[in-house]
Amino acid sequence: MKFVIKIDDYVYGEKETIWCELFSMLEDKDIYASIGVIGHLSLVNFKVNQDLKMKSLPRKVEIWNHGYEHERGEFLGQDLSRQLTQIAKCHNAIKEIFGYEPLAFGAPFNDYDENTVNACCELGYKYFFGAEYTKSVNAIKLDNLLTFETSKFYEEDEFYVNPVMSRFKKRYATAVQNGNPCVIQIHPRRWNLSGIKTFSMILDYIINDGGDFVSLSKAQSNK
Ligand SMILES: [Zn+2]
Repeated sequence: MKFVIKIDDYVYGEKETIWCELFSMLEDKDIYASIGVIGHLSLVNFKVNQDLKMKSLPRKVEIWNHGYEHERGEFLGQDLSRQLTQIAKCHNAIKEIFGYEPLAFGAPFNDYDENTVNACCELGYKYFFGAEYTKSVNAIKLDNLLTFETSKFYEEDEFYVNPVMSRFKKRYATAVQNGNPCVIQIHPRRWNLSGIKTFSMILDYIINDGGDFVSLSKAQSNK
């Protein structure tokens, strides 16, 4: 069975200990994962401190564009030119920081519309998290989403804290029956080091069960 690890909300220069630990764990296991970068906050940190440790990502980690401001309504309901601007701004931030040109997009809060997909196509993106409106870009379907973090609500936003093994085990059984690919969506920006340990055990559990962590090109499927 194919699994995609969709890591949300990476901010360059923030919580480096957590990210370094996560990336070295992924490198040790030699598995694919994809990481969504928030453009604006990352660029601000990059400009004020260019001596940070995080110069490169593990070999199998792909970067995806997760929007520039990462605000509610950044994409959903906005006109095409506004959406083009926001996607291009995050794209340029990623290019400046990592020297990497992302080919995939995932909207903040997975909130998007037809203009978002059209903007990504216009900018030459190859992969899109979500299957709605995706006729001319490869969709990474989110209909089999496996989540296992605890969460807290603050005003209207949900903040995710550490992954929970019992929650994972309960949901994994259903996820493996729901078909390919299963997308594991996580928010390590909110974790502490014990969260990384739990996630490592979760990955081992899936590996022992024969799960295959794949790149976006292997996971994609046209609607
Ligand atoms: Zn996000």
